[in-house]
Amino acid sequence: MYDHRKIGRELDLFDTDPLIGSGLPYWLPNGAAVRHALEQYIRSAEQRAGYRHVHSPVLGKRQLYEISGHWSHYRDDMFPPMDLGSEQVVLRPSLCPHHAVIYRSRSHSYRDLPLRMAELGGMYRSELSGVLGGLSRVRAIHLNDAHIFCTLDQVAAEAQAALDMIRRAYEALGITPVRYRLSLPGHGGKYIDAPEMWERSTALLTAALKQSGLVYEAVEDEAAFYGPKIDVQVADGADRESTLSTVQVDFHQPKQFDLHYIGSDGAKQRPVMVHRSIIGSVERAVAHLIEHHGGALPPWLAPVQLVIFPISEAELASASALAEQCAALGLRAELFGSERGKLGARIREARLVPYQAVIGPKEVDSGHVALRLRDGRRIDSLPAVDVLERIGALIDAHSTELWERTSRAS
Ligand SMILES: [Zn+2]
Repeated sequence: MYDHRKIGRELDLFDTDPLIGSGLPYWLPNGAAVRHALEQYIRSAEQRAGYRHVHSPVLGKRQLYEISGHWSHYRDDMFPPMDLGSEQVVLRPSLCPHHAVIYRSRSHSYRDLPLRMAELGGMYRSELSGVLGGLSRVRAIHLNDAHIFCTLDQVAAEAQAALDMIRRAYEALGITPVRYRLSLPGHGGKYIDAPEMWERSTALLTAALKQSGLVYEAVEDEAAFYGPKIDVQVADGADRESTLSTVQVDFHQPKQFDLHYIGSDGAKQRPVMVHRSIIGSVERAVAHLIEHHGGALPPWLAPVQLVIFPISEAELASASALAEQCAALGLRAELFGSERGKLGARIREARLVPYQAVIGPKEVDSGHVALRLRDGRRIDSLPAVDVLERIGALIDAHSTELWERTSRAS
């Protein structure tokens, strides 16, 4: 069973420091490369699916959360407010209220809907220090979030489209859900009291799940305080489940923020908010990816994609030239020179790097590269440009394959 904290150290991805605080990991250059690759994938998938990105501050006035309902239903998970003389501000526990206000700031007609607003933004959760460690429970969260403001008729199709985006993302990430959970409210004051609203939103999510042909399980007391959710569950090596992706239907916040659009008849109508996240928080997603793959991330996500081993000092210049060529193509390459020890030791040190190029006298003379793959396969020597082009194409396609399946294994 893999522990993402241990592999994270081996790959130099992230660390914590008591001076910064528990639950507040920082990302080293290798870790930042992984999360940026993930963020880029998400942003471009969202752009292609008709989302527009916004950017909003991580703080908001207490009143914002009183209106959204977080203050009365979610305060235990929030950091205490900061007093600024005449007003109090809080670190936001979610992005929804900011997005509702952004929607409200401009007038909309039915022709603008569905309006898909996305942001990869910071939010904060006041976790107890006892449960913190690594990236799976953190106090500062970067959430892949989006809100779709739409008509009631559009909700099912939007929820289905979000489920489809989640399916494609999991393919690129090489992960599979353990189950789809329809998260329903429980009893007690945690949830807003509006039975009819719960019934309608649950029916819409159920329809989306059925139309997507997904098997799901309904579980009580797992909903958001404002509405039910479809949660896409993943499991770690010890079969502990957590939620990465989610699709939610919300009638509550549009009402609280008095959102509207002008309908085809010229009358004011209330939109529905669909909250959705493709990979959830970047922190939890990376923790899961590291553990699921044992650190051997798909090439497009790997912190170092190609490692270059000059056999001796004599091949250093050629190896450096290859590294520069990689950098110019946007590939993350690193040079492991002979100062790091014997070739065998260097290869072991780079065991999680997808592509490994050994440069000996033959390669220097021919301008060819003899590639080893992380899984032990060796590729026949090819001109360096061809090798880099092939790797680049697999990375651009967000493939989980290292090479063609037909390659000669040895
Ligand atoms: Zn939301």
